[in-house]
Amino acid sequence: MRLDPDNIILKKIGKAADESGFRIYVVGGYVRDLILGIRDNDIDIMVLGDGIKFAELISEKFNRPLDAVYKNFATALLNTDGYKIEFASARKESYSRNSRKPEVESAGLIEDLSRRDFTINAIALGLNEDNYGMLTDNFNGYRDIQDKIIRTPLDPLKTFEDDPLRIMRAVRFAAKLNFTIDENAFDAIKKMKNRLTEDKVVSQERITNEFLQILMTDKPSAGLDLLFRSGVMDVIFPEISALAGVEQRKEYHHKDVFYHTLIVVDNISMKTENLWLRFAALVHDIAKPLTKKFIDGTGWTFHGHEELGARMMKKIFIRMKLPMNRLEYVEKLVRMHLRPIPLAKENVTDSAFRRLAAEAGNELEDLLMLCRADITSKNPDKVNRFMNNYALVEKMVMEVQAKDELRNFQSPVRGNEIMEICGLKEGREVGIIKSKIEEAILEGEIKNDYEEAKKYLLDIKDEMLSSFAKNKSKQTAKIKSSRS
Ligand code: ATP
Ligand code: MG
Repeated sequence: MRLDPDNIILKKIGKAADESGFRIYVVGGYVRDLILGIRDNDIDIMVLGDGIKFAELISEKFNRPLDAVYKNFATALLNTDGYKIEFASARKESYSRNSRKPEVESAGLIEDLSRRDFTINAIALGLNEDNYGMLTDNFNGYRDIQDKIIRTPLDPLKTFEDDPLRIMRAVRFAAKLNFTIDENAFDAIKKMKNRLTEDKVVSQERITNEFLQILMTDKPSAGLDLLFRSGVMDVIFPEISALAGVEQRKEYHHKDVFYHTLIVVDNISMKTENLWLRFAALVHDIAKPLTKKFIDGTGWTFHGHEELGARMMKKIFIRMKLPMNRLEYVEKLVRMHLRPIPLAKENVTDSAFRRLAAEAGNELEDLLMLCRADITSKNPDKVNRFMNNYALVEKMVMEVQAKDELRNFQSPVRGNEIMEICGLKEGREVGIIKSKIEEAILEGEIKNDYEEAKKYLLDIKDEMLSSFAKNKSKQTAKIKSSRS
């Protein structure tokens, strides 16, 4: 099979390979995505022979320095024309049981393809003139892409044992591409899942990186459910798998907290690309298993789960090596995720809205988005009613804030100018005039702008000054009479 990668960079690199006698191929994600019709800016080039030497040759030809050279892995990186190109020598790898760092040995094309994680990533596309666009596909990757299936080129047990990170990658590709994981591979994942955290074979950063990528897919529930059903969630995020089997109130008994959470995450992912808001949705009920209590007549209750959930975050952030500067944000959303609910009634005081807005601060919008995503009822009337409630809360908060803004506002004509225009010294009288202007604005007599306020000041100036003068003479008269 031959494809036509219509890409000038690839053509140039191919030509350079012909001139220098190298045999080279594009491999991995670029080829997979080309077949799927997805554009990709990461290009992996496999070189038969010395990959670094070929990279240096290209670097000279393109007149761009290499961005990195990794001698141990016989790879080099070049960024050019918006592409990230990685050159690597074809190799086979053997793993020792306690490390996923392979010992690298040079190899031929097929050997190199066979050590790759999945058949869909193990297709090579020729770049030399005699085979430009030709696919080498010994493991039927092309067919698996058509069939939307994730399969390993060799024995899946050995594949996942050699490098357990591939477990996470399998789920990530399945989730992102909407593919299924082949049954044998899925069984092998179930058997090998504990390797992910055993003996520090895989770093927590890499596991977390894959996990967060799964959370950033269009419909994260697919990947999260795969992690759960394979048992991988137990290993990497046990607090989330503990949500399964926790029943909600009676009327919800068909839907445990885990599946409720998946819907919430999907709901919010339709609205936002904010990873940490998605993460907050994932963990918002995380303390439900720990706070669960059955109360006769009421059913299951989860008192304080929002507070306990917020307090659980720090340990989880540390363990999963999540960025600590996002901790406070996630804590706040978890802690406050029930707060707007009781405000969606009539006769709620302004100060209740003011407190919600003040506590949520800049996160108010995200909080309300989380609240809306948290509505997972299947009854459309209920959904409508709850949605309208939040719209009401939003409206009320905005109204209270608008009022507050007016309350805290200042006369657009400031004290100094009042003193100048009225020939007054600093003192009580300036304040009285200022309040008079502000009152006129609040009463709607004039607009809240400088020109109108100044004109108003000029209008009232004489009257105000003469009333001050009258007051003064009254006072002096009083003082005089009190003396005599
Ligand atoms: P994407 O860039 O979308 O994540 P990709 O398939 O390009 O997908 P990379 O991590 O860029 O993934 O790796 C490039 C190629 O290297 C893969 O397609 C695969 O063939 C191979 N590869 C990467 N990681 C592994 C691994 N852990 N085990 C085996 N092969 C791997
Ligand atoms: Mg890639």
